[in-house]
Amino acid sequence: MNYQKPKGTRDILPSNSAVWQFMEEKAREVATKYSYQQIRTPTFEDSALFLRSVGDSSDIVNKEMYQFKDRGDRSLALRPEGTAGVVRAIVENGLLNEALPLKVFYFANCFRYENPQAGRYREFEQFGAECFGIDAPCADVELIALAKNYLENLGIKNSKLLINSIGCKKCRAEFNRAMREFANKHKTELCADCLRRAELNPMRMLDCKNEDCQKVLKNAPKLKDYLCSECREHFDEVCRLLNALKINYQITDNLVRGLDYYTKTVFEFENTVGDKTLTVCGGGRYDDLVQEIGGKDCPALGFSCGLDRLEGLVDKNLLPNQPKILVINAGNVTLEQVLPIAEKLRVLGKNIEINLANRSFNAQLKYANKLGIDEVYIIGDEELKNKSVTIKNMTTGEQITKNFDF
Ligand code: ATP
Ligand code: MG
Repeated sequence: MNYQKPKGTRDILPSNSAVWQFMEEKAREVATKYSYQQIRTPTFEDSALFLRSVGDSSDIVNKEMYQFKDRGDRSLALRPEGTAGVVRAIVENGLLNEALPLKVFYFANCFRYENPQAGRYREFEQFGAECFGIDAPCADVELIALAKNYLENLGIKNSKLLINSIGCKKCRAEFNRAMREFANKHKTELCADCLRRAELNPMRMLDCKNEDCQKVLKNAPKLKDYLCSECREHFDEVCRLLNALKINYQITDNLVRGLDYYTKTVFEFENTVGDKTLTVCGGGRYDDLVQEIGGKDCPALGFSCGLDRLEGLVDKNLLPNQPKILVINAGNVTLEQVLPIAEKLRVLGKNIEINLANRSFNAQLKYANKLGIDEVYIIGDEELKNKSVTIKNMTTGEQITKNFDF
């Protein structure tokens, strides 16, 4: 029996892991600069948490959730996104009773039963950041700046920032009424999903991936015409502050997000590769979510980046170059004698490989060449006796002998 990975999953092999480590390191570095601290939450949660937060009108909960009963008959789900678990954790642990803002970042493997294609998997990795307790537009702009900085630190310079405001509950009610009316008029031109969304959550129609629907929806009511004065002012201020930071953006009237909990500002960063445009980062405000899942009334906002989509866009020239050294045993020197020397070199901070495969001297040199190793440290009988090491530069062939107290 030959086993294969489950449909829609990926193996990140050693040849690719340097990119992943780089994406994670940069995420930690940039998030820390913005004063975010890491949070780690479970891979699975009560299904009800996602139903309540992501929403039962979203595709994510409706069609894509990996839901199961455990042996104790609990209804659980593999997380389809990171925010719900984070909000649950900070409410459960009382973190909102401390000084605010609370700023956290996370890495999360997420699961969605989607149709696998390029940039779309059933298990994928997100880097996300969430900020709690601030309703001022400055927080929106700082968060957008964090995401932008992260992408630039990966060497991704040509991302396009799209923003919109989807308003609060108050303005959404008016808009939803207008959307229902619109859907009613265009019943025959819209897909079954859109008609279902018209009932459950009309705004979600705007996110339909069906091209025919998108043509019809171009003429749908615009959220911006329904914003209450508070939401309108908030959005204007976000735009003004983005201008002040010289962050380019494009106001996109029909931009909504795939999750139900968003309010006011929503944004996406997208990148085009060839003829394909992919959203690499998405986020926005969710001022009602904390309260909806049992916490206090607390404004909040966040984003998440899809690392599987970023992987191919990272500038590989930026990857740190960590030289690896092969310690070669020559003459009568045994591997056993090399072992403690290698340990000492590692303590000194060097990345060391030794002759575990027990190759001959020449075979070790060949192996070093094949691996593209920059330097080999040769320990022969003379070196062992004199407490020295002969260092050979594999590119120039140059060789020097140095004392080394092993
Ligand atoms: P899309 O419209 O592309 O389906 P979404 O609105 O469902 O995206 P979010 O739920 O906001 O996306 O997730 C945030 C980010 O996670 C996305 O911008 C994307 O980079 C990544 N992402 C989402 N779904 C997948 C997936 N199935 N495979 C890989 N990455 C994903
Ligand atoms: Mg989606």
